[in-house]
Formats: sequence, C-alpha cells, structure tokens
Amino acid sequence: MFQDVLQRLGIDDVHSGVWSGEWVSQPNGGELVSSNPATGEPIARVQTATREDYDNIISASEQSFRRWRIAPPPQRGDVVRQLGNALRRHKQDLGLLVTLETGKIRAEGEGEVQEMIDMCDFATGLSRQLYGLTIASERPSHRMFEQWHPLGIVGIITAFNFPVAVWAWNAAVAGVCGDSTVWKPSPQTPLTAIAVQHILNQVTKDTGFADVFNLCIGQGNAAGEWMAADERIPLVSATGSCRMGHSVAETVGSRLGRSLLELGGNNGMIVTESADLELAIRAAVFAAVGTAGQRCTSLRRLFLHESIADAFLKRLQKAYSSIKIGDPWEEDVLMGPLISEAAVDQMMQTLETIRDQGGDVVYGGNRIERPGYFVEPTIVRAASDMPIVRQETFAPILYVLTYRSLDEVIETHNSVDQGLSSAIFTDRMQEAERFLSTAGSDCGIANVNIGTSGAEIGGAFGGEKETGGGREAGSDSWKAYMRRQTCTVNWGGDLPLAQGIEFDVAE
Ligand code: NAD
Repeated sequence: MFQDVLQRLGIDDVHSGVWSGEWVSQPNGGELVSSNPATGEPIARVQTATREDYDNIISASEQSFRRWRIAPPPQRGDVVRQLGNALRRHKQDLGLLVTLETGKIRAEGEGEVQEMIDMCDFATGLSRQLYGLTIASERPSHRMFEQWHPLGIVGIITAFNFPVAVWAWNAAVAGVCGDSTVWKPSPQTPLTAIAVQHILNQVTKDTGFADVFNLCIGQGNAAGEWMAADERIPLVSATGSCRMGHSVAETVGSRLGRSLLELGGNNGMIVTESADLELAIRAAVFAAVGTAGQRCTSLRRLFLHESIADAFLKRLQKAYSSIKIGDPWEEDVLMGPLISEAAVDQMMQTLETIRDQGGDVVYGGNRIERPGYFVEPTIVRAASDMPIVRQETFAPILYVLTYRSLDEVIETHNSVDQGLSSAIFTDRMQEAERFLSTAGSDCGIANVNIGTSGAEIGGAFGGEKETGGGREAGSDSWKAYMRRQTCTVNWGGDLPLAQGIEFDVAE
C-alpha cells in the first residue's frame, strides 16, 4: 500500500536526491537506502550528491538569490502561500510518508505536515511585516532608521525526528526574507525531503523561481560539513544533537559565519503538591512517550513533590500499561518504533548504565521482540546525582525524581547542560510565577500546566545553554535570516557630527 503513497508523491524506487532548479539525474555520490523502522525493510533508494553536485547547487542558489532578493516580499510570500495550499492537498500522503520513514504515529505524521502549513500561513503574513525601527537622531535635520535585507544562501541541516516541519520553520521564513535555501536532510529520512521538494516544485515551476529552494542529499553528514565550511553560505541553520552543534558552530565560527542552532534537550517537569494530577499525568505520558521519546522536547526528568510521588507513580505506571505499541500505520497505535537498530542499542546501553548507577527500572526496560525497532516505554526511579540523568538519551526513558522544596527543585532542574523546554504543574499562582521568574526555569520554553512537548509555531522556538541559543518559527525569529542595516539621511544643509565633535577644515 505504501507504494501508492510514494507514487502519488512522485517518488520512484530509485530517486535522485539532488535538486537545483531541476532534478540532477543520477548523481554519482552513491546510494542511500531509506527503510521503514517498523519493519526494518527498505522503502526506496536515493542517489546522493557528490562534492561537484553540491558546488553546482550552491552556484544555482547564488544566481537565484540575485533574482529572488529583489522580488517584493509579498510576492515571495505568495509563493510560500501557494506552497501551504499544495501541502494542504498532499497532507494525508505526506503525513503517511513521515509515518513510514520515521515510525511516528499517523496523528503525529499528519500533525507535522500541519505544522508546515501553519508555518506557510505565518510566513505569508510575515512577508508584509518585515519592519524596521525609526530612531531619534541627535543631529538636526537627520533621519535615522533600520532596515533589513536578505542574507544570501541559508543552509538548512535537519534531524530525522522532525524530517519536514523543521525545514518549513526555516525555509518558509528564510524564503519570504529573500534568501535562497539549500536543504540537507537527515540521511535517515531522505524520502520525506524528496516528497516535499516535489510538492514545492509544483508551485515554483511557472514562477521563474524553481531554483530558490534547493535540496542536497549527500552521504551521511557530508553535505552538512560542506555547508558549515562554505564561505558562500552566510547562515547555517542546524537542528540535531549537541555533538553536531559543537562541530557546526566551530566550523562556521572559524570563518565568522552565522549559525542558528537547535540542539538537544533534557526537559524537566515539576509536579507540585497543589497540581491537578489528572492533567499532570496526561501531560507527562504524552510528553514522555509521544514520538517514542524521540522529540527534542520529550519529557526526560519528572520531579514529583514527595507528598504525591508514590501515588503519582502508580497512576503513571497504570497509564503506561494502557499504551498501545505497534505499527504506526495502524490507527489506534500510540507508540511506534525507534528510528534504527543503533537507537535501540543506545537505549539498552543507557539502561545498563542506569542500573550500574543505582537507578531502579520500575516500568518497561526491554526491547520488544518483533521485526523493526520496538522498545517498551520505560520509567526509572532515579536520583539527580546519577550522571546518566544529565544526558539526553533519544529514547522513551523517563527519570522520576522526588523533591521537598520548590527552590531546591528549580536548582536541580536547571543544573543540566541543556536548556530547551520545561514545565510546572501547579494550581498555586506563587509557584507558577516563581517558576517563570528570572530565578526560575533557565530554558527557552517554560510552560505552566502544559507538558514540555508540542509547541505552537507562533512563538519563537529554541533553547539555551547546550541547546544552542537559536530561535526559529514565530515571533521575531525572522531577524536571524536577514542582515540589519542602520541608515542615516542628512536632509539639511549643514554637516553636524555625532557626539558634538567639531572638525572644521579650512578650504
Ligand atoms: P544528528 O545530530 O545525528 O543529525 C542531525 C543532522 O545533522 C543530520 O542531517 C546529520 O547528517 C547532520 N550532521 C551530523 N553531524 C554533522 C556535522 N559534523 N556537520 C554537519 N552536519 C552534521 O541528530 P539526529 O539523531 O538526526 O536527531 C536527534 C537530535 O536532534 C536530538 O539530540 C534532538 O534533541 C535534536 N533535535 C533538536 C531540535 C530542536 O529544535 N532543538 C529539533 C529536533 C531534533
């Protein structure tokens, strides 16, 4: 049945992974096999880019940037609006392909496409709102203001777990800002990227801008490494692990380029004595088990007030036991597989470390014996001084910790290296405000009575510390994709200098 989906999305058994205004037929970088994590079986093969193909893509992107940057922003917005409409038409098929290639459940696969559509709507409006400030000048008869210009080529490196939405966060905004883009998707999810490129091409083919949004699927990390080192790319927006972020930031920084980093999280949720436990349980289960614990915002550390801890844990275990695990193509499944055999190994190794460090596995902890990469969602009673609790393991392992005072738990919560998403469940206004105060959560996202995952696109998304400091999607994140120019116009007949400096030259 999945062949029908591939066919409707324009994907052949062996497909080129290189687009720069047209598909490069048979690129020579070797083959990449995309497989279904629910079965371990191959779906299709992708031919990857050589360094020469990459250079051609960058040349095409440089050329298209020159044309695209002078198109009025609302005209650029109209292309993005049409992309949103095309995505609406293909929402079900693209969602199914996301499910097929990542193992996300169907609701999450379609939800990811909906997020792309929402980003297109947002960026369309934004195309009429790229505003600058006017600032009072200290000099008479002078006008000072800021304006924003496109940057150039934006390199977009994406992770496997949001194979299409993260591209849209970047490309929809960068596009209306006037940048051309080159997308380097995860080698684990090349087909979803190819499908998006096909949908995009339906929109751009008659506009003269078919080479603005480009695709470069290389082997492994190669194309990402080329981008990081490439002086022709002023901004590299990279989503993935902290390890990748260190590498990209160092390489881009060494040429004084800009990087926008969306990296790993180690997200915590505090449940206080006064919390609505019904809400808190539902939120914890969705945040910890959703996408099989493979979201950057997945709940990893659950801090329970000691007075409610035992009862809460019991209810949590009961809720876990009702989760249907299975093939994510089936409608009522709530948890699919991990992405790969390596991800299962990583989870099993982490569980060994947990036991060595004194953690108590109170639910799950095993691989599920069936084809594909299925594991049990796992709950561990842990202590915050266990070193493993400080690391992000990209799997459904939830550490449960207990606490006595809010001050103490906020300090523990903030003591990890990552700073992406955080949450508190409380019905006391003082506790909520304490959590949101300057001395509260140190994360880029702080929620009250909402779990750590599932952010809306209207806000700026991103995190602090090792999460990389980048902000994408809504609010004023667009500014990262443009260069700011401060302009001063003297409309008087004199030449007053700033800071009152006199500099009279005898003529
Ligand atoms: P990953 O770091 O292995 O790969 C991410 C992307 O970076 C891939 O396209 C990969 O090929 C590329 N890459 C890896 N090393 C590179 C290098 N040295 N130079 C250039 N490119 C390189 O991550 P993953 O396993 O695909 O995704 C999971 C990770 O991503 C988790 O840590 C998760 O928290 C994080 N993530 C973060 C966000 C966020 O918005 N903060 C969103 C999604 C995923």
